Amino acid sequence: MRRHPRRRFCHLPTPLQPAPRLGAWLSGGSSPLDLWIKRDDLTGLGLGGNKVRKLEFLVGRALAEGCDTLLTAGAAQSNHCRQTAAAAAHTGLQCHLALGGEPPARAEGNLLLDHLFGAQLHWCGPHRKGEDLPAIADELRARGKRPYVVPYGGSNPIGALGYVDAAQEFVAQCRDLGVRPTRIVIASSSGGTQAGLMVGLAHADEDIEVTGIRVDKADATPLHATALRTLARETADLLGLPFDGVPVLRDEGLHAAYGVLTEHEREAIAAAARCEGLVLDPVYTGRAFAGLVHLVRNGVITPGQTVVFWHTGGLPALFVGGHELVP
Ligand SMILES: *Cc1c(COP(=O)(O)O)cnc(C)c1O
Repeated sequence: MRRHPRRRFCHLPTPLQPAPRLGAWLSGGSSPLDLWIKRDDLTGLGLGGNKVRKLEFLVGRALAEGCDTLLTAGAAQSNHCRQTAAAAAHTGLQCHLALGGEPPARAEGNLLLDHLFGAQLHWCGPHRKGEDLPAIADELRARGKRPYVVPYGGSNPIGALGYVDAAQEFVAQCRDLGVRPTRIVIASSSGGTQAGLMVGLAHADEDIEVTGIRVDKADATPLHATALRTLARETADLLGLPFDGVPVLRDEGLHAAYGVLTEHEREAIAAAARCEGLVLDPVYTGRAFAGLVHLVRNGVITPGQTVVFWHTGGLPALFVGGHELVP
């Protein structure tokens, strides 16, 4: 791990907190679920989230390679793009973002922050997953820039190192607090977070299942599982570690297309807010928590178990159309 360049800008370790009222709400009155929240919404830089952990290693590599510009892609409300823009500003690099869709009339949420962090935006219409990155990188090189292309979601083996490191941090915290979880529940999209956690936990010899809750219907489940497994293996290879884990991905959160708010996310967001003063976002953590609610209701997770809900951030999106959440 130590031989991989890293630029530190996260506030670590993030808290691991008990959520007793939310655990009791989840199990609906029977013996409560022993629920804990890992607060990666509090990683710090640029309003935080899971991508800044990955970016510590991606920016470390960019600097080691002498690059002067970060280039990445995502949806208009991409948390990953916002955190990349913040990391670039914080390290004195330029930032170019390839965003899906057309420029909206008003810049809100993550997009507002992209502007504040000084990122240069390229609107790419239907291409929200980085299809245009090679062309933009060529254009930047032709202008004498040295771009470092951060993959979609920051999910390659280098980015995933951030979550191998997070797994080590988590295992030490569990030991200190005397918490013995059997399962981590987390939103899974481009996969680097789940892959890194799986590799890190396996390396620490911890038998904790990482249950990835899918948030995007457009990624077919088998493809997502295969890509995640490949990414986990490549991450382990980069570290010279053996690994043969199989990712667990569940569809219990998929009631609508990516980013579409349903009564399920509403219920999850309201419960976390009222029981614990904990804020979830509508696109990722609200959907993942709704998935956890279903896993408890359909008996996959039973009361009495110790479960960690890993909060991956995403809160700026709450301020885009968040009024829909008001009952
Ligand atoms: C990107 C993101 C995720 C998913 O992480 P992946 O590593 O892409 O699977 C989850 N939650 C939030 C808030 C995110 O921004």
